[in-house]
Amino acid sequence: MPKKKQSKRQEPPEDNVSHPRFGTKPIDSGSKVDRRTLQDTYYGYRGERIYPESAILADATRQNHSVFPRKYYVDIQKTCRDCKRPFIFFALEQKYWYETLGFYVDSDCVRCPECRKNDQHAKRHREVLSKYMNAPPTKSRALIALLEAGVYLWKSGELKNTHSLRKLRNLAHAEAKTHPVREELDSLVEALSN
Ligand SMILES: [Zn+2]
Repeated sequence: MPKKKQSKRQEPPEDNVSHPRFGTKPIDSGSKVDRRTLQDTYYGYRGERIYPESAILADATRQNHSVFPRKYYVDIQKTCRDCKRPFIFFALEQKYWYETLGFYVDSDCVRCPECRKNDQHAKRHREVLSKYMNAPPTKSRALIALLEAGVYLWKSGELKNTHSLRKLRNLAHAEAKTHPVREELDSLVEALSN
């Protein structure tokens, strides 16, 4: 039983960079788990500004973690490393990152949705992917670039076509057996069936 009245909710900054799917404000999940409990279940939440009302239960069996899994995901108020503007790293995004894309649970989101989208790295990878996806190169350097582009864009959530991912994995098995990108593709494809 709560001893005192629930503390007032924190309002998000008004200039949060908007997420294309989730917007600018924390999403109320109906959770009654308090801040303290959330911070006790995952040390990474202790130094963060979190919105407890947005907490959702995690499925730790789907997480890639070294020692400590996350029991809950919760909307986190962040500042973008690149543009320094505020944004929210949403609980629902975290679930997707850590349970579907297979990111390590300790990996953090440091850039706002706009900067992630404008990422030069991603731009280059997108060009490589669109140039080569339907006509895989025979030169091994270009082939590796294609495979790496696929891995990068899959992990960032841009590439969503599982058929493409499997195709890249098969290419890696045929043409890049000894390159570390093959193992990465293996584990991403494996994660699909979990
Ligand atoms: Zn930014």
